[in-house]
Amino acid sequence: MGGFLPYILLVMLPSIAVTGWAAWRVRSTYARWSAVDSGINLSAFDFARRLLDRQGLSDVQIEPVPGNLTDHYDPRGKVLRVSSAVAGTAQIGAYDPVRRAVGFPDGSGRLSVAAAAVIAHEVGHAAQDREGDRWMAVRQTIVPAAQFGSGIAPWLIIAGLWFNMFNLALVGLVFFGAAVLFTFVTLPVEIGASGRALAYVSSLGLSGERQVGARDVLKAAAWTYVAAALAALLTFLYYLMLVMGRRD
Ligand SMILES: [Zn+2]
Repeated sequence: MGGFLPYILLVMLPSIAVTGWAAWRVRSTYARWSAVDSGINLSAFDFARRLLDRQGLSDVQIEPVPGNLTDHYDPRGKVLRVSSAVAGTAQIGAYDPVRRAVGFPDGSGRLSVAAAAVIAHEVGHAAQDREGDRWMAVRQTIVPAAQFGSGIAPWLIIAGLWFNMFNLALVGLVFFGAAVLFTFVTLPVEIGASGRALAYVSSLGLSGERQVGARDVLKAAAWTYVAAALAALLTFLYYLMLVMGRRD
């Protein structure tokens, strides 16, 4: 029963469409606003330090991390990691030979709107962690089950269906459900951090067009999490349909 065609039509194609659209949107929005000067007269690292200190988070460390949009806050180490892409695009004019010649030292370039938005978002996570944000706490408790679920649960379901072991498939379904739940609990955490980020950048003088740009960057990033949650839910519903179809 089932077969591959309904899986492709009901799960794979819609998932690829929605996650692909979200990924394209975040890339294009980020590219647009990483070319616009925020007008904030700080480097990426100094901006992160300033925001953290303003929130009373002076003990949170800042470290560089390689990659593009790999910026994150690590709640266990209390470390905010700024990607080289964000730190690099913060230096608008880094490739400008005139500014090069003037000898702007590394890290003293201008901060782009996109870089400011991303850094403020991560500071938002650090503030959530400090305040014991409810959704962040819920998310942390689901992590083990969700990691187990996203890795092994599909195999439990497939094995359960293959060997006609309904209960095994059901256990797989429950663990996969935990992984899906994780993607949904992530949404209020991410949207909460972005709400804080907008308040931070506004209070530091980002206004008008630039404020709209920061909001666009944060909104585009939020859609990638919504897309991931929808794709996970679709997969779950498909598995549910398969398992329940075998109940007899
Ligand atoms: Zn986030």
